[in-house]
Amino acid sequence: MATTDRSMFEAMLQEFDGAARILNLEPGIWRILTAPKRQIVVSCPVLMDDGEIQVFTGYRVQYNISLGPAKGGIRYHPGVSLDEVTTLAAWMTWKCAVAHIPFGGGKGGILCDPTTMSRREVEALTRRYVAEIIDAIGPEKDVPAPDVNTDAQVMAWVMDTYSMHVGHTETAVVTGKPLELGGSLGRREATGRGVMLTTRESARHLGFDLRGARIAIQGFGNVGSVSAALLADLGAKIVAITDWQGGIYDADGIDIPRLLEHVAVHKTVHGFTRGDRLTNEQLFGLAVDVLIPAALENQITLANAPDIKARLVVEGANGPTTPEAHRHLHDRGVFVVPDILANSGGVTASYFEWVQDRHGYFWTEKEVNERLEQKLCEAFDDVLATALRHGVDMRTAAYIVAISRVAAVTRMRGMYA
Ligand code: GLU
Repeated sequence: MATTDRSMFEAMLQEFDGAARILNLEPGIWRILTAPKRQIVVSCPVLMDDGEIQVFTGYRVQYNISLGPAKGGIRYHPGVSLDEVTTLAAWMTWKCAVAHIPFGGGKGGILCDPTTMSRREVEALTRRYVAEIIDAIGPEKDVPAPDVNTDAQVMAWVMDTYSMHVGHTETAVVTGKPLELGGSLGRREATGRGVMLTTRESARHLGFDLRGARIAIQGFGNVGSVSAALLADLGAKIVAITDWQGGIYDADGIDIPRLLEHVAVHKTVHGFTRGDRLTNEQLFGLAVDVLIPAALENQITLANAPDIKARLVVEGANGPTTPEAHRHLHDRGVFVVPDILANSGGVTASYFEWVQDRHGYFWTEKEVNERLEQKLCEAFDDVLATALRHGVDMRTAAYIVAISRVAAVTRMRGMYA
């Protein structure tokens, strides 16, 4: 992961401050909204397959819970730190507010390299981590979900460990679960579907046709792969895709169903028989209409932003663009759909899953997708209208929308003691 001189949290504050100044946010509320409510650090001992005991560091941060229970994923990655998890929890707070769902923001992470661990080791680590944070989570308190390197099976282990502790099956403690265990139809695809919808709405606003538009995507995990498939369905040409192992370029448009088959076997796009090889750096400089960073944070920096030729950047990942690179792109007239709007489809469908679990009544995939589209289009319209009203970029506008909503309930609730 690329690093910057400044912490991720400071970069988030820079974005926050720009919007808070426009809102004339009062200093007291400003202080509350820029302080993480709760940061938990735990040590998780795990008996590894070789008989050795390893101790992993885990984090769970509840950044703000004014609008409802903390909500946000858990990631397993060697780059996890308290700074990163806190920043991601802050972004979840703004994301849930932009999406207009009754959740605060949280995030969890474990410092580990799951690619070198067996499934049994990952399960043991997951269960121990959940046991360590058990008092802090729950359907009314804090509801985890998948994030980088965690999937529906990991969520099933979270649900089971929590349920074993409380003595009954509690499905609403976590979202992104398998369907059989209270998961929601459409949840797995929802983040990518949201990326497709915000790309479609942006193209409509900018006045270009997505049919035949050339798209480059960084990342082919849950977000990148579903975005690629859905945008291809709309008639766009996905010409380039890179992942952690390499990348491919095909000017005629990559055959996404066949690439998905390849990735199911090889776990990477690298080695796909059709198309040319491509590096990550080459991907950012391609002559495309739309660029979708859907991997990790800090991928678009001042080092590669000047090479970007796309007129539309849609942030599938959380925090893929540094504030300086973002300013550079905006000054050059590139329309950037910020992460807290572009990838909010995932948490919006998580909200639907939580609602269904609590009702014990499940919706059809059509209902989920229709409600998702309605929510996302409303969020997009709110942010675009705010951007036009204040004459600011879409990221600042999304922060203005989010901060206004969280600040309003903070004032309404008042101070305790
Ligand atoms: N990890 C996803 C995100 O960053 C989803 C979070 C959730 O569904 O709670 O938005």
